[in-house]
Amino acid sequence: MKDRFIPVSAPTLAGNEKRYVMDCLDTNWISARGKYVDRFEEEFAKFCGVKHGIACTNGTVALHLALLALGVGPGDEVIVPTLTYVATANAVRYCGATPVLVDCEPETWNMDPGLIESRITPRTKAIIVVHLYGHPVDMDAVMSLAGRHRLFVVEDAAEAHGALYRGRMVGSIGHISTFSFFGNKVISTGEGGMLTTNDQELARIVRLLKEQGMDPKRRYWHPVVGYNYRMTNITAAIGLGQVEMIDWHIQRRIEIARWYQENLRAVRGLSWQVEKPDTRHVFQFFTVVLNGEVARTREEVIAHLLSRRIEGRPVVYPVHALPPYSDRVRGQSFPVADRIASRGINLPTFASLERADVDYVSECLCECLAPALTA
Ligand SMILES: *Cc1c(COP(=O)(O)O)cnc(C)c1O
Repeated sequence: MKDRFIPVSAPTLAGNEKRYVMDCLDTNWISARGKYVDRFEEEFAKFCGVKHGIACTNGTVALHLALLALGVGPGDEVIVPTLTYVATANAVRYCGATPVLVDCEPETWNMDPGLIESRITPRTKAIIVVHLYGHPVDMDAVMSLAGRHRLFVVEDAAEAHGALYRGRMVGSIGHISTFSFFGNKVISTGEGGMLTTNDQELARIVRLLKEQGMDPKRRYWHPVVGYNYRMTNITAAIGLGQVEMIDWHIQRRIEIARWYQENLRAVRGLSWQVEKPDTRHVFQFFTVVLNGEVARTREEVIAHLLSRRIEGRPVVYPVHALPPYSDRVRGQSFPVADRIASRGINLPTFASLERADVDYVSECLCECLAPALTA
């Protein structure tokens, strides 16, 4: 048994993060102004191949700002996948609008573009796509549908920094996109968020709203009700250190996923996201789903991993199952999301994992699946 606990996720601070944070402290620039905010925004926008990067407090408020900038308000509907972290749907509710939930594809686990059209009504204003665990959504299908119906597309790329769809970076394809830098994301600042867009007007509105609605040319003049959704210079200093090494972070995650796939390929009863051609999946998590032939419940498998000092995390409850949303989906069913959410386990996935860790996790996972099922 390992003496070290292996968490499901952990930030990896392997670059200039500490030096930049110390610089903030040494120079007294600890608040929401300073060079690191500007540099982090510039470097992240450059990485995504977009004109504007706007830092903010976290990925949830990034979604709130994106929807406000698009004019989403009371009476509007926004199409959202049900298999996502709850923040995606909550941001719609913050605007007084209604999330309309859609089931996912069995292979990528992303919202099924083929199920969107039937959910569009005259009230629909936007579609939020989520690149789940870092696998890009089929954006061509979503963008052409949105174009035909004159809808906005928000990419919730909280889990997908650097994911590629047909050679394009996620976060550069929809009208506006959002990222999170929480501790379990592809790169992290502890808490943090970013919006990306090529649309100058949307960028202007987002900056206005996140800065308390203050006219940038007239101090303390607030033409609209805004918010304080700023990122601090210290947070951005960590972010700059992370984004300088983002290609390394992504390559490490892909390498770890390949090890899991190699180790688990011959094990019957497990499946994982199918990577589509011409995409790059960045593996915020490598996640397995226990198929019907596995004799153990998901909870038994997680408990077994824990007994071996490994954290396995259940896939989130789908939004339609949560109390603020469940009463609004009567008569609808989401069989694919229900299956993945009830049988899925996120396995440890973070840049500082070594091959021996991945082998150990794989071995502990296999030993608790019924032996007869191992090929
Ligand atoms: C993490 C996450 C968010 C929220 O980001 P925070 O920084 O935690 O507020 C939103 N959407 C998805 C899909 C996420 O995974």
